[in-house]
Order: sequence, then structure tokens, then C-alpha cells
Amino acid sequence: MSDCLFCKIIAGAIPSNPVYEDEWIYAFRDIAPQAPTHILVVPKAHIADVNGITEENSAIIAHIFTAIPQIARAAELTDGYRVVTNCGVHGCQSVQHLHFHILGGRQLSGEMG
Ligand code: AMP
Repeated sequence: MSDCLFCKIIAGAIPSNPVYEDEWIYAFRDIAPQAPTHILVVPKAHIADVNGITEENSAIIAHIFTAIPQIARAAELTDGYRVVTNCGVHGCQSVQHLHFHILGGRQLSGEMG
């Protein structure tokens, strides 16, 4: 199996707290939440980061962004939320498998960086 943490989570080799799954994507609770609701949405296919998005795999990204509003609705984020993806060293990416953070459940900071 791949050495990638999120590939292992997707495969069920490492436990996680799922909130959504379909053929292409998996969403689960962040282990160290930075907001009352903190969900990670990942493609099942291994894409390292935003730099790995191509014409060939971009349909998965579009699919993620159609699933995110459904996931947010199911999580009752009725007053809004933030979607974040970190990329590379300056972006503070710690897991090298593309993921989108959904953060909400309280008023978030206006600071973005
Ligand atoms: P990033 O720093 O943007 O790469 O985000 C990685 C995220 O993965 C962090 O918010 C971590 O808290 C989260 N994380 C790391 N290990 C796990 C795990 N085993 N289960 C759920 N979330 C995790």
C-alpha cells in the first residue's frame, strides 16, 4: 500500500470518522479540529496537491466542489463556512494528498494569511 496517510485512511487501514463517501471522494473529521466543525474532503485517487490538478483529473475537483455544499448542509453549517487547501511549504501543507478543509460552526477570523 502507498505510504500516504490519507490513502491509508481511504483504504480503511487507518481509522477515521467519515461524514461522506462516494466513488470518487471521501470526507472525514479532522483529527485536530481548528473550528467546531472541521471536515477534510479528499479525492480517492492520489493527487499530491493543487499543483497536481490537470485537465485529466479536474473532473474530480469539480465533483468535490459539488459535494462540499451537501456536506456543509449535512453538517448544519447554515451560517456559512470556509474551504481551504494548503499547498507546499509556504502553504503549510502537512499531508501530501490533496485535501480541502471545510471549517465552520463559529464566526471565523477575517485573516487569511
Ligand atoms: P494540511 O496541514 O493542510 O496538510 O492538513 C492536514 C490535516 O490533516 C490537518 O488539519 C491534520 O489535523 C489532519 N490530520 C492528520 N492526521 C489525521 C488523521 N489521522 N485523521 C484525520 N485528520 C488528520
